Amino acid sequence: MKFDVLTLFPEMIEQACSHSIIARAVNNGIIDVNTVNPRDYTLDKHKKVDDTPFGGGAGMVLMCQPYFDAFDSIKKTENTEVILLSPQGKTFNQKKAAELARKEHIVLICGHYEGFDERIKLYTNAHEVSIGDFVLTGGELPALCLIDSISRNIEGFLGKMDSALKDSFSDGLLEHPQYTKPREYRGMKVPEVLFSGNHALIDGWRRKQQMLITRKKRPDLFAKFQKNCNNIEDLKLLNEVLFSETE
Ligand code: SAM
Repeated sequence: MKFDVLTLFPEMIEQACSHSIIARAVNNGIIDVNTVNPRDYTLDKHKKVDDTPFGGGAGMVLMCQPYFDAFDSIKKTENTEVILLSPQGKTFNQKKAAELARKEHIVLICGHYEGFDERIKLYTNAHEVSIGDFVLTGGELPALCLIDSISRNIEGFLGKMDSALKDSFSDGLLEHPQYTKPREYRGMKVPEVLFSGNHALIDGWRRKQQMLITRKKRPDLFAKFQKNCNNIEDLKLLNEVLFSETE
């Protein structure tokens, strides 16, 4: 998977991708993160990338020419997805991350200041993607969120692919609680079932916890899960959850 990030602040992307699991994936060749700076494509001596908005108003708007030319410099294929980060876009989620992990090449276009000249969206024919209903200073943090969450769904990125498949949202529920050593800390005990050695029992307990936690923290997700649930084992547990007190 190759990511090309169009950004005026390439160091933000490069720095963030030089740590932890992302850095390991870059070093192992599982992902390739490349930056393209529109400022390098300016034609004037001041390397100007923005200007005041027509019609007046505060802030600076990103200009077409450097963005068009920087975008044109990126080699695309039929399997390239072009995404423009924008608070006005469709909200990103785990389903979209898994879907995009099947692409070979993703171009992420980061805005800054007051945002893009509208014609940049038209020219690049990009899908607008938002990471939530709030406004950030630039598209770099959203681009990093996408790189991270998409990469988690690429085989070989995580030690065990299992861990991504069991993450929250992967199957419509939040993840079950996790515990590690010690068995008891400041009077707080790890649930006994986790020491039973009985994997079926542990799996059942975890699945039920997923349902309980999702019902408590994200009733919207729980309602969807309840509506679509058709697995016999899940239905049994769902029944128990629906008739139990909130734990
Ligand atoms: N004036 C724009 C508006 O109100 O829609 C906001 C511009 S914002 C200050 C600058 C850039 O940050 C945007 O062009 C976009 O690339 C990025 N950005 C800000 N919030 C974002 C969000 N929630 N999701 C994705 N990108 C975001």
